[in-house]
Amino acid sequence: MTNMRTVYVNGEYLPETEAKISIFDRGFLMADGVYEVTSVLDGKLIDFDGHAKRLQRSLDELEMSCPVSMEELLAIHRELVAKNDIIEGMVYLQVTRGAPGDRDFVFPDPEETPGSVVLFTQSKPGLADSPAAKTGIKIISIEDIRWGRRDIKTVQLLYPSMAKMMAKKAGCDDAWLVEDGVVTEGTSNNAYIVRGGKIITRELSNDILHGITRAAVLRFAREAQMVIEERAFTIEEAQAADEAFVTSASTFVMPVVELDGSPIGSGAPGPVAARLREIYLDESRKAAI
Ligand code: PMP
Repeated sequence: MTNMRTVYVNGEYLPETEAKISIFDRGFLMADGVYEVTSVLDGKLIDFDGHAKRLQRSLDELEMSCPVSMEELLAIHRELVAKNDIIEGMVYLQVTRGAPGDRDFVFPDPEETPGSVVLFTQSKPGLADSPAAKTGIKIISIEDIRWGRRDIKTVQLLYPSMAKMMAKKAGCDDAWLVEDGVVTEGTSNNAYIVRGGKIITRELSNDILHGITRAAVLRFAREAQMVIEERAFTIEEAQAADEAFVTSASTFVMPVVELDGSPIGSGAPGPVAARLREIYLDESRKAAI
């Protein structure tokens, strides 16, 4: 059992067992909510600004309002990190369209029904020094049957959750999702391959989440004179690649060493992924707030 955390719910800091959300909350009834996960290293927030901007974009796309400003959200993140003594881990943030008095498909008037805001921390000592980053992870591919607005970070995570279970059943760590013969992204990360020194990752569109880690990693890669090609790739191309990896706020840069049973490259984490992980961690720690 983990220690009793202090969490934030609608203006209050409370012990986790005392925090409450209405059964009429649209996040609960309809997955009508958006979220962000910000990593914490050395007790500081990694790329908070990127996460706040994407949160605002998700809210705007769904015409959802947030009762708390981005400045206040930063203060709440910091308060929770301090109250829960988080050195390495993450802060989870969720905003929903709130709890009208009844269940109704029509959006409630935001003047009458304010959104719900929940934040909590997860302590993950050893997050940066993860053993999985040294061995790499194994991936299966499955069909991408998610909805068409994957650029909005909604809490509608049933299929990614099922995908993860399919991977576990197959003795693997995660899944890459395939649509129209090409990889969209991972269940909870962006997907990359490396061929002849070139980093290949799918271009941004409504088909994938615009990863905050993706943006940072591509920026650092360009600064290090690496060549990037933003385009979709097939599972066959990935299996024949020199390297593969995924990125996300909580795994940073994670090497992929096997895809649908075929080893990628030497079957061990490759040098490009290892270098990008190192640069990403170094630069992110320097810029953390
Ligand atoms: N794609 C999906 C579907 C995700 O759920 C995530 C992580 N939430 C990502 C990509 C990676 O995004 P980020 O780097 O902002 O964590």
